[in-house]
Amino acid sequence: MKASIAVLPGDGIGPEVISKAVEVLSKVAGKYGHEFKFTEAPMGGNAIDSTGQALPDATLKLCEQSDAILLGAVGGPQWDGPTATVRPEHGLLKLRKHFDLFANLRPVKAYPALAQHTPLRADLLEGVDMLFIRELTGGIYFGPRAEQGDSDSAYDTEVYSVPEVERVAHVAFRAAQGRGKKLASIDKFNILASSRLWRRAVVRVHEDYPEVELEHILVDACTMHLLVRPASFDVIVASNMFGDILTDEASVLAGSLGMLPSASLGSGAFGLYEPIHGTAPDIAGQGKANPTGTILSTAMLLRYTLGLENEAQAVEQAVEKVLADGARTADIAPRGGSYISTDEFAGAILAQI
Ligand code: NAD
Repeated sequence: MKASIAVLPGDGIGPEVISKAVEVLSKVAGKYGHEFKFTEAPMGGNAIDSTGQALPDATLKLCEQSDAILLGAVGGPQWDGPTATVRPEHGLLKLRKHFDLFANLRPVKAYPALAQHTPLRADLLEGVDMLFIRELTGGIYFGPRAEQGDSDSAYDTEVYSVPEVERVAHVAFRAAQGRGKKLASIDKFNILASSRLWRRAVVRVHEDYPEVELEHILVDACTMHLLVRPASFDVIVASNMFGDILTDEASVLAGSLGMLPSASLGSGAFGLYEPIHGTAPDIAGQGKANPTGTILSTAMLLRYTLGLENEAQAVEQAVEKVLADGARTADIAPRGGSYISTDEFAGAILAQI
């Protein structure tokens, strides 16, 4: 199979983890007889510095001509000032909106090899394997806002329409159908009008998937349920902001924020693949970044955009084997224990593929 992949390394640890993901995809291509063409382009803070735009037109054009986008992460303190008018994350939001990538899939798995590393009891982590589906192109991240420099007030608006909720709910119910047939829908029904609309739309879509068991959970309660009964979750669907926050919390179950991949999909096969973490300025350039989330994002790219299930599983199994063999980056090493660099860890995964 031939595929063109736009590679946007981004800022901070982005280029460090993306280079490893490209090596993994190249290895898969060589082993299974595929031809993947990678083209790099600036996005985020580095693009602001070089072009004044977070998402330069040429980068957007490259993405339009590609089958998928592989992205590191964008942002950093040098572009985060409160009065900055062009922000790195504007590029990311624009990219998601431009391609109407409304469903962000974030699988969260607890690896037995890392159970001792998390702050939770190992028995609570047994069997933890859930799929978050975060709505990605609506809600408070895109609603009307007033941000008036130094004035005394500002606002952001959570806006959802029924069709926006229904389409992401369909993705979630379909995913649940193919897994454990359980869906948890997260909202703040008791307080927010937008959440009452969310729940009404999800209940409507449930009529099309009667075999899926649906549970509604208030977002504040969900933060607690994720820690006390994580193994009971199968698929979870949430709004843009609730999904963003809950998946960072859920990353603790996997051992580190650096472990989690994501796929942002629209109605076709095109997708944007990125780890859920940010640019980690505190460890950038030190060889300490965990490339697992980005490497597992390539497995999602192989699965969802290219339909290469065997290849996707080969990458996932390589990651599991390396973890089971005891290889650790700094973030998942036992306290005071030894760890290997980003390059060495990725090298071990490559050797397994
Ligand atoms: P972060 O995810 O970058 O880092 C949070 C903590 O997790 C840090 O201690 C970091 O060292 C650690 N961490 C993250 N990824 C890791 C990895 N792969 N390996 C090992 N440790 C890892 O979040 P933050 O510090 O709140 O944000 C830093 C910058 O990233 C900000 O500018 C923010 O806007 C940006 N950001 C970007 C994205 C994105 O591009 N999708 C997402 C979140 C944050």
